[in-house]
Amino acid sequence: EVRVRFAPSPTGPLHIGGVRTALYNYLLARKLGGKMLLRIEDTDQNRFVPGAEAYILEALAWVGIVIDEGQGVGGPHGPYKQSERKPMYKQYADQLIAAGHAYYAFDTPEELDAMRARLQAAKVPNPQYNSITRAQMRNSLTLPEDEVKALLDGGAQYVIRLKVPRKEEIRFQDLIRGWVVVHSSAVDDKVLMKSDGMPTYHLANIVDDHLMEISHVIRGEEWLPSAPLHVLLYRYLGWENTMPQFAHLPLLLKPDGTGKLSKRDGDRLGFPVFPLEWHGTDSETGEATVSKGYREEGYLPEAMVNFLAFLGWNPGTQQEIFSMDELIQAFSIERVSKSPAKFDQNKVKWFNEHYLRAKSNAELAPYLLTALHEHAIVCSQEKAEQIVGVMKERVSFPKDFWQEAKYFFQAPTEYDETVVSKKWNAPVAAALTAYAEALPTAPEVSAEGLKTLFNDTMAAQGLKPGQVLQALRVAVTGAAAGPDLFETLVILGVPEVAQRLRAAVA
Ligand code: GLU
Repeated sequence: EVRVRFAPSPTGPLHIGGVRTALYNYLLARKLGGKMLLRIEDTDQNRFVPGAEAYILEALAWVGIVIDEGQGVGGPHGPYKQSERKPMYKQYADQLIAAGHAYYAFDTPEELDAMRARLQAAKVPNPQYNSITRAQMRNSLTLPEDEVKALLDGGAQYVIRLKVPRKEEIRFQDLIRGWVVVHSSAVDDKVLMKSDGMPTYHLANIVDDHLMEISHVIRGEEWLPSAPLHVLLYRYLGWENTMPQFAHLPLLLKPDGTGKLSKRDGDRLGFPVFPLEWHGTDSETGEATVSKGYREEGYLPEAMVNFLAFLGWNPGTQQEIFSMDELIQAFSIERVSKSPAKFDQNKVKWFNEHYLRAKSNAELAPYLLTALHEHAIVCSQEKAEQIVGVMKERVSFPKDFWQEAKYFFQAPTEYDETVVSKKWNAPVAAALTAYAEALPTAPEVSAEGLKTLFNDTMAAQGLKPGQVLQALRVAVTGAAAGPDLFETLVILGVPEVAQRLRAAVA
């Protein structure tokens, strides 16, 4: 059975890269008829941020990722939050110690600092607690057995470390990268249990993936260096046969390709890097901060999903527009790229425009009606639908409807200068007056009808329609550009148009 998990740590708002990881997991689960799990990895209590877990749940729900089992949903392998699973991990650390694959380390922070200083002085490039240096430290591999026992019985502080072999090739197959081979000398003796009795990420992650019967671990490239260690843990715990398959997703780069897209880039680059707005505190100054979110900026979840799917994956065809269901059909890990994906804020906007335009007028009308309500303007559902109908080709975000459609509710008080200076003269003004007079006689108030009437009126004035069209638009809307002009006039209604024309020529 295919069982995948998204396993975020609640250390802050979910980054857009985290949403992509969740999405790829979800797509694979749905594609292969498996289950999508959500596990909260909060073993690092120092980095816990209140509100982060709720944010994660809300963000996943917003983009339409449905959790089958896990935090917020429940299931047979709960609890799904690691801090609530604390008592479950120690036995596995003990098992590793009994098998000689882990050991107690009693070193104080000062002793660890001193070791690092010694190694640095000796110009060791990457000072680590490892198969070489552990020989000089205070641990159950170097101390006499009775001393270890006395320390443990006396309640001494200790951590449990993995005993990484000195000379061994660790290899595993990554579904995206192929064979990954790492020499064990490059892996340090990672802490598995901390002195407070909490497991570290590494131990808890492996134990939980095993107990939760995870079949595929799909996660960001930043976890690739941890994978060899995880492979050792599966082996030493005797779980190698059911070890999940790994897939490490490509990095997300800044739009200009200069390095990894970080949580801080949003404010600097002027686009959100979070799905939802986040109210946090600056870790250095302690001041309240607000980080922009796609949802609040007016992005539609469908656009987000389509955009994120293409950050590291492509269908191998020209098709760019994919609903969630279509993505599920088309998705495969084989088509996920190894090379980093550049974040392109123009592309996400393009997707948004597409999905906005694909919505029916009835679906879009509420965006305009809400804004109108805020401005105490009354408007019928029918009229709102007409307006969004002519406007939707011209807006990128739902909030633009009000900005762009204001003139349907407020006569212009200013007129576009360039049009006025170039296209406005006495004959044009006279022609507009003539049109205002002719309007009530229009046989049919439709875009076609008002256009024919306009052409006829201009002919009678001895002008070509093209000489007056822009002036007509500016007189009625104030702006030099907008949606179909005669549709606009129909929505405004004959009396209102006539009145605006008279006001403009006055
Ligand atoms: N808790 C890790 C994170 O925050 C999970 C990494 C993994 O998927 O193994 O991303």
